[in-house]
Amino acid sequence: MIDLVVAILMDIYTKRIKLGVGYGTPVVAVNHVTLAAVASAIRSKKISVEMTTVIPKGFARYVPSQKMLQLSSHDNVNASSFQNDTSVRAMVIHECVHAHVHMNRPNTPILIDESAAFLTQTLYRMLAGDTAFVKQATSGKNANARIFSACVGIVDMWLRPPATRPNLSRTELNPLFQAFAGHKLYKQAAAAYPL
Ligand SMILES: [Zn+2]
Repeated sequence: MIDLVVAILMDIYTKRIKLGVGYGTPVVAVNHVTLAAVASAIRSKKISVEMTTVIPKGFARYVPSQKMLQLSSHDNVNASSFQNDTSVRAMVIHECVHAHVHMNRPNTPILIDESAAFLTQTLYRMLAGDTAFVKQATSGKNANARIFSACVGIVDMWLRPPATRPNLSRTELNPLFQAFAGHKLYKQAAAAYPL
């Protein structure tokens, strides 16, 4: 299980991830170096990985107080999904971004933490050529789809050459902040962050 998570953090798509989220301070940097640091924290058991039936199939979470990555035991981790399913792999990346933020920038506003996590998750899927995901995100109408649709727009712009800008700007992040503000799980975080 640890090996499967570490393998995701070191794979060919993760190696191409390079995002800076936030403006002014704090800026959360997510790239192959920061994700490799999470991989090594998992390997050395500073971050634990737990399988639990509490998490529904297709979900995962990072529990900061326990430094624990929780994965759903309803997902068949030994065989297909964690090795072949881009959505599951990208979800693990999302939670590992939270682990990175918790380890290195514990005072990061939740909105920036979630922006970094969702954008990295989306970037991973787009780097992996997951066109079905892009289609689904951009055609969906619910609050979740609006978050992913905003992420696709930002990542799409970011992927266009020259993709060298160090950090996403306030203006570039705005559609995502708006989507968070319309989601029941994140609207409080959106309201707490000075826009
Ligand atoms: Zn999250």
